[in-house]
Amino acid sequence: MIKDHRVIWENCLRVIQQYLPEHTFKTWFGPVVPVSLHNNILTIQVPSPFYYEWIEENYVDILRKAIDQELGAEGKLEYSLVVDKGNAESLPKTMTVPNNKIELDIKSKEEKPNLDLQKRKQQIMKEHDAFFRDIQFNENYTFDNFVEGDCNRLARSAGFAVAKKPGVTAFNPLMLYGGVGLGKTHLVQAIANHVRFNSPEKIVVYISSEKFVNQFIEELKSNNLQKLTNFYLKIDVLIIDDVQFLSGKERTQEMFFHIFNHLHQHGKQIIMTSDRPPKELQGLEDRLLSRFKWGLTADVQQPDFETRVAIIHRKLQNEGISINYDVIDYLAHSIDSNIRELEGVIVSLMARSNLERREIDVQLAKETVRHIVQKVDDRRPDDVEVGIDSIQRTVCQYFGVTEEELKGKARTKALALARQMAMYLCKEYTEFSLKAIGFHFGGRDHSTVIHAIQTISDLREVDNSVRNDVAALMKILNKS
Ligand code: ADP
Ligand code: MG
Repeated sequence: MIKDHRVIWENCLRVIQQYLPEHTFKTWFGPVVPVSLHNNILTIQVPSPFYYEWIEENYVDILRKAIDQELGAEGKLEYSLVVDKGNAESLPKTMTVPNNKIELDIKSKEEKPNLDLQKRKQQIMKEHDAFFRDIQFNENYTFDNFVEGDCNRLARSAGFAVAKKPGVTAFNPLMLYGGVGLGKTHLVQAIANHVRFNSPEKIVVYISSEKFVNQFIEELKSNNLQKLTNFYLKIDVLIIDDVQFLSGKERTQEMFFHIFNHLHQHGKQIIMTSDRPPKELQGLEDRLLSRFKWGLTADVQQPDFETRVAIIHRKLQNEGISINYDVIDYLAHSIDSNIRELEGVIVSLMARSNLERREIDVQLAKETVRHIVQKVDDRRPDDVEVGIDSIQRTVCQYFGVTEEELKGKARTKALALARQMAMYLCKEYTEFSLKAIGFHFGGRDHSTVIHAIQTISDLREVDNSVRNDVAALMKILNKS
């Protein structure tokens, strides 16, 4: 009897349907189209690499059952993935992959790290430390600490899939984009932490693209560029944060292009973030942009009310504090912009409660939020943007340092001054507590902030250049 692929797939669907809720079934299996049946291999077409990943990740057992039933134990399944939808002139592009590919690939990669591998890692880590002196992973950025909501579900699940199987999934490169303070850095660092913890032999590098550009320039100056490039070629997981800063940096882009191709060809994972969708990244070469589309692009959006509630809840829980739902409700209604701001308010609220020895209730929450918003309103009637973020940005631009450096640990004289001045201005312009300000400068404690404010106040009295700098910065902040 000749079997028809459509009939076989229809029967498979009937089996699958028994195991899944209707909407799940519709979402993941509705768009699947049977393509062919040859040599007992059934080929089905799925709309994107993401579908393939998802189905393989979540429904492979059910699929196996269905195939067993229809084609017997020898029956096989292949996917035809639509990787490019095509247009009027060109047909869609597809690629074919067998099912269970992931498991096979992983098994071959997951052999115990032998001594050679460990030695290799030690050697490479030495180079890593030389090139990445002040770049650190933030161990608090984990998947466990990341609250999932509709706004970030796709980004999170793709990130998690990549973290479990770097370089093996179809999400390569993985590109996450979205506005400030919405959790991009948190997510990509969570991937880094997951891989570092679970596959210690893998070389994971996290770098902002600003830093990447600076590194390029520095090593170019000191004739070490080749060494730097060689180092990048040995990486297993490369994470570049905020790629929008590569725009217009042609030579750095060229180096990145080279690194990208090499890593991608060798099955290494590349992860990027950007503050806007790839098609809006101006000043980036087309050949680079077209590569960004090879894998998966996922956005993170503003959190909705429920997600904000969940985030507030989680942050308080981490601090060991439990407060009434009406306070959480009030906060989630009042701050709907970004999550970094939400965190700032929570820290202020806790500090205030400590300082004034008051219970955290709606009254205190109102005062805290009102204070923060009001102070800003007083100074800048038509722009409520002067917050810690914009002060930091302004100071960085003024002194020509990066925000990473401003919040980082390095203590060169110029950096220390910029940092102290930024803290001083935060105290002047916002109603954030000392603790909250410290928190926004790489988690420094409040005594560091007091010291900074004292230093700048003193210097303003005696040092002309500091006085001029403060005046110039205030002028910018007042009118920008
Ligand atoms: P971005 O890189 O998009 O500007 P970040 O990753 O720096 O944003 O996030 C800003 C802050 O908000 C971080 O402290 C991060 O931990 C927190 N945050 C963002 N999204 C979430 C989330 N979904 N759950 C918990 N915390 C989050
Ligand atoms: Mg970020």
